[in-house]
Amino acid sequence: MIETKGYATDGPEAKFHPWTFERREVGPNDILIEIEYAGICHSDIHAAKNEWEAMMPTTYPLVPGHEIVGRVTQVGDAVTKFNVGDIAGIGCFIDSCRECKPCKEGFQQFCVKGAAFTYAGTYMDRVTPTYGGYSNKYVIDENYALKVTAEGDLSGVAPLMCAGITTYSPLRRFGAGPGKKVGIVGLGGLGHMGVKLAAAMGADVTVFSTSPSKEQDAKDLGAHHFVVTKDPANLEPLAGTFDIILDTVSADHDVNPYIGMLGIRGTLVVIGVPPSPNQVHSFGLIFGNKSIAGSLIGGIPETQEMLDFCAEHDVKSEVEIIKPDYIETAYDRTVKSDVRYRFVIDMKNA
Ligand code: NAP
Ligand code: ZN
Ligand code: ZN
Repeated sequence: MIETKGYATDGPEAKFHPWTFERREVGPNDILIEIEYAGICHSDIHAAKNEWEAMMPTTYPLVPGHEIVGRVTQVGDAVTKFNVGDIAGIGCFIDSCRECKPCKEGFQQFCVKGAAFTYAGTYMDRVTPTYGGYSNKYVIDENYALKVTAEGDLSGVAPLMCAGITTYSPLRRFGAGPGKKVGIVGLGGLGHMGVKLAAAMGADVTVFSTSPSKEQDAKDLGAHHFVVTKDPANLEPLAGTFDIILDTVSADHDVNPYIGMLGIRGTLVVIGVPPSPNQVHSFGLIFGNKSIAGSLIGGIPETQEMLDFCAEHDVKSEVEIIKPDYIETAYDRTVKSDVRYRFVIDMKNA
């Protein structure tokens, strides 16, 4: 077994602490990744605080982290995709059944047997718990690791593994590009990637934010317009004008104003996962043949496509690099929307 140094929390109110655990030996199809950076996704916070208890109760000890990038230091005998020294990424899942329709179609996140999520889940044996990227090593089947070709500093690449693919996938699915008006609700980790990606695809991008102080940043990230949502009067002139709105907000909020801003056949894509359900007026949807859609991360082929797109368009996340002893503070700041725009833990020097 491979001794691994991680950072774990033991309960919703507990603090993170160093914790040593074991990963499996490198099998024929596996690679060993020495983790360099792990992004802090708001999902890590929801999980650590057990905020999704009703749907997905958290198991402890919890080692979060599904925005992972690092260097390959060992490869199994049958590995063909990676060599020692390559840069590899890991996103939100690390295995799936490989036989069901979604797996075969490249939507491994929807494996009918349940994908093996990178943390707070189990491997496909359904017994062995998974521990995530707030750790120094990961052993993973090469088919579930991503190839990273981006050049330069890797810290801004880690968040692509979740925040990047989670915004890329619906933007592609609903046709973001030249001539399309895209709204991004919430300028946090996901939101700022949504802005960069939608702008790189050629769309006209509007940020809807509760934080007036983020206006200049939004423009620097590539947004064309910035709307402060606290004053409903700001939204009225925009009624019926958007093709796609991505809602990345992590806290409970009313989505009906965003439905109002969709044009005919427009789509509100829900990607944030606030703790409580939302209420939607049918009238808001039927007048205009509008849709509400959901989107969950992306499968391996599309995640690789996103990474290649980002390498080609020089898209990376804006990050604040921290040490593991800052995780709690980073969580508190993220919850207060005080993150510009992703905390990334330096695991290389942890
Ligand atoms: P984040 O960095 O904390 O960003 C969330 C943003 O939402 C904040 O920066 C803030 O932006 C806005 N916001 C926060 N509280 C708000 C409130 N009370 N009312 C209105 N807006 C508020 O979080 P994240 O990492 O981007 O994750 C966002 C959500 O997506 C989380 O719920 C996470 O679990 C979920 N998620 C889903 C998927 C998926 O596959 N669907 C994948 C990853 C994450 P402003 O300051 O601009 O208002
Ligand atoms: Zn995530
Ligand atoms: Zn499957």
